[in-house]
Amino acid sequence: SQSRFYAVPAEDKVAKFKGTKGNDGKFTVTLIEGDGIGPEISQSVKDIFSAAGVPIKWESVDVTPTLKDGKTVIPDEAIESVTKNFVALKGPLATPIGKGHVSLNLTLRRTFNLFANVRPCKSIAGYKTPYDGVDTVLIRENTEGEYSGIEHVVVDGVVQSIKLITKDASERVLKFAFQYAEDVGRKKVRAVHKATIMKMSDGLFLSTARDLAKNYPKIEFDAELLDNTCLKMVTDPTPYNDKVLVMPNLYGDILSDLCAGLIGGLGLTPSGNIGDECSIFEAVHGSAPDIAGKGLANPTALLLSSIMMLQHMGLNQYADKIQTAIFKVLAEGKTITGDLGGKAKTHEYAEAVVKAM
Ligand code: NAD
Repeated sequence: SQSRFYAVPAEDKVAKFKGTKGNDGKFTVTLIEGDGIGPEISQSVKDIFSAAGVPIKWESVDVTPTLKDGKTVIPDEAIESVTKNFVALKGPLATPIGKGHVSLNLTLRRTFNLFANVRPCKSIAGYKTPYDGVDTVLIRENTEGEYSGIEHVVVDGVVQSIKLITKDASERVLKFAFQYAEDVGRKKVRAVHKATIMKMSDGLFLSTARDLAKNYPKIEFDAELLDNTCLKMVTDPTPYNDKVLVMPNLYGDILSDLCAGLIGGLGLTPSGNIGDECSIFEAVHGSAPDIAGKGLANPTALLLSSIMMLQHMGLNQYADKIQTAIFKVLAEGKTITGDLGGKAKTHEYAEAVVKAM
């Protein structure tokens, strides 16, 4: 059903989620509260899940990184927890400043091989934005491209950043996109690219997509240049409602923020980082240091990410219950946070969602 943020897993897909229920009938899920507004918005998720009776036990872990042989590493305890539980909910992490550190978010994606980043953007009924009825799904390659981290100084004043595209990583994310389209009942997959200019790298992504498309006869496949997608998206996004867009890393990062702008901003946009084994769900936004600790943060993006997580785990009844309550509170518009034009504190909004369930 398209009213859901994530694929409604068929029975065999639910079986693919490898988490196990404890003797108390509950799944254990890793929780990385994160920095800045992370703890505040994580608290909202915990309160709402507990009120909804979601059969989940949280296992909170610290991911404060250390440098080992010049590489950013996260504590073993965190790695063991996600590996054991197969699924995690993550608050935003501030990128550590200091020579040698790479982004912790990138480190997590690489550590668990989370190759597909699913970013849905859906209009919230009642919340006024320039467009109504936006319902886009963007899937971003999450491990390579411009984010491969291979950079060097050629000579003084000249640097080179390598954009790495491999057939393997392209195939993996493209297969995921076609499968996702089938699972959620979207009829079309569209690859977004710049193969006119980056003939070899984006060219490989595109030819891999064309080859794979033959294996999915029920799904229509086509391709579009990124600049054209941007233009069309801000002119009228609704023709994208029946499609799954799939693209290399950087394009997905940027285009998904454009989509977020169409529906009311970063406070409303969830995402899932999906791998073969583990998956980590997180809001698209960062740690918002400017409003941290003030009770002003909008927890909706993390809540919607937690709803994607519940759907991924096959806990649809709880996902539906919480999503309906969130949309009701947002549509009423009485208890919404400052970023959406309201006056409610984070915890007041969370309490309103609990009341609406
Ligand atoms: P940001 O997303 O944290 O904030 C941008 C603006 O949006 C700020 O004005 C902020 O107050 C507002 N905002 C963001 N989330 C909000 C919410 N839930 N409710 C209300 N307002 C919200 O981006 P930034 O300031 O560029 O980055 C801050 C830090 O976060 C940096 O260290 C960055 O590296 C990190 N970051 C982490 C992630 C992640 O963990 N996935 C993603 C993006 C940025």
